[in-house]
Amino acid sequence: MKRIIWLRRDLRLVDNTALAEAANGAPVLAVYILDPAIIDRGSPGGRRRYAFLVASLRELDQELARFGTRLAVLHGDPVQVLPRFAKDNGATAVYWNRDYTPFAKRRDRNVARALAAQGMHTVTFKDQVVFESHEIVSRQGTPYRVFTPFARAWRAALDRIGVQGADVRPRWVPAADIRGRLVDLATLPIRTDELFIRPGRAAGLASLDGFAERINQYGHARDFPAIAGTSRLSPHLKFGTVSIRECVDLALQFDNDGAESWLNELIWRDFYHMIVDRFPRVAVGNFQPDTERIDWPGDPAHLECWQQGQTGFPIIDAAMRHLARTGWLHNRLRMVVASFLAKDLLLDWRHGEDWFRRQLIDYDFAANNGGWQWAASTGVDAQPYFRVFNPVRQSQRFDPDGAFIRANVVELTDVPAPAIHWPHGRIRAPGYPAPIVDHAEQRERAVQLFRAARPASQPPR
Ligand SMILES: Cc1cc2nc3c(=O)[nH]c(=O)nc-3n(C[C@H](O)[C@H](O)[C@H](O)COP(=O)(O)OP(=O)(O)OC[C@H]3O[C@@H](n4cnc5c(N)ncnc54)[C@H](O)[C@@H]3O)c2cc1C
Repeated sequence: MKRIIWLRRDLRLVDNTALAEAANGAPVLAVYILDPAIIDRGSPGGRRRYAFLVASLRELDQELARFGTRLAVLHGDPVQVLPRFAKDNGATAVYWNRDYTPFAKRRDRNVARALAAQGMHTVTFKDQVVFESHEIVSRQGTPYRVFTPFARAWRAALDRIGVQGADVRPRWVPAADIRGRLVDLATLPIRTDELFIRPGRAAGLASLDGFAERINQYGHARDFPAIAGTSRLSPHLKFGTVSIRECVDLALQFDNDGAESWLNELIWRDFYHMIVDRFPRVAVGNFQPDTERIDWPGDPAHLECWQQGQTGFPIIDAAMRHLARTGWLHNRLRMVVASFLAKDLLLDWRHGEDWFRRQLIDYDFAANNGGWQWAASTGVDAQPYFRVFNPVRQSQRFDPDGAFIRANVVELTDVPAPAIHWPHGRIRAPGYPAPIVDHAEQRERAVQLFRAARPASQPPR
């Protein structure tokens, strides 16, 4: 009567819903599958995520060793390796926490079918989000398309239902009894010394504790990339080394603006998971179908300038170089560089989405796709096409003394503020590129482009 907990984006033994349920009345085996269809070691971001993942798995394995068991790490397509492993170990059921991307949902359906063919049950749970898409719907029962009413309904549901953690002390299957071809985590080649955010649950909890001391300043500090004003928990929330409920619990312990706005960001996370679940078309096209008519007229050569941080716009270049160097980027800068790609360079946002996937340590399909479509005005933003960030003004407001720029653009180290925000003309910054576009001109072109894509029936706003 053994049961398997298939760990995926929930790499922890505490407050893990599927694990708590699996452990209720039967011995449990913990499994992780290194699926070649997901693991990407061909890009810097993929390698960072792989290192974060493997280091977190090693920590988990050590924790399991204290209970006399081990983490069974398999390699291959879950549809094939999981049923075989379950059969070899005499398991009768496999438990996991649900995932909401079209890819994951398809995979999970196929795995459940393959398990059923062997006479095994599959039992799945909500764990990755606070509320699943069917729990937060409009009065008509339809999914929300705009954030604010969604957030209002989410808060009401939280007051009504609360967050329920899940804790148990499982009875583990002894390590010596585990059968199958297991991967030895110690042999996997990773480098963690350069990771911008430390992997593993212990590091995640330390970040959460550290952030608890700063949460009251978050409302203000969150907008300034030169300071560590945000939690930097995103890779932990991606891999589940910290649970979303632990974050919500933290926010609810404080009664101040900082905690309130942090909770709001956690709601954005649920919102984008809901969008992907209910509108899977975002994986292949624009959330706003009309915007598919846009034929992005930008110069393809500008894409590389943007990727390499060579646009001549200091805040953009600082952000893109920081992203390439560390694999992480502040939210304000993600919005600014995304707007710049779509509205200043007039390049299809999908190029940016893909570049982020290839760089980010916290890459998450739902948040990345949602963030890109929002910035490109093809997504859920209630504001239409005329939201175009002015990169120089953003720089002046959110990096006023130029500290972030100076730390990331070596050619500008000696340029003082305010000139650092626009070091062209009389200012000398040897080696720094001239601006590749004129913001005012491109802004106008972007507005025209979106105006032309709007259906005739829709009046101008
Ligand atoms: C173009 C673009 C791409 C993005 N790509 C990703 C991505 O691949 N992975 C990712 O986790 N986030 C992404 N975000 C959202 C956001 O920028 C990051 O979650 C945030 O910067 C992570 O830093 P933090 O952990 O310090 O955040 P905090 O400000 O401390 O927020 C706490 C947590 O809330 C969640 N969160 C915060 N803001 C958002 C948001 N706007 N949308 C969804 N969730 C949010 C994250 O899980 C984050 O860790 C993207 C945003 C944009 C504009």
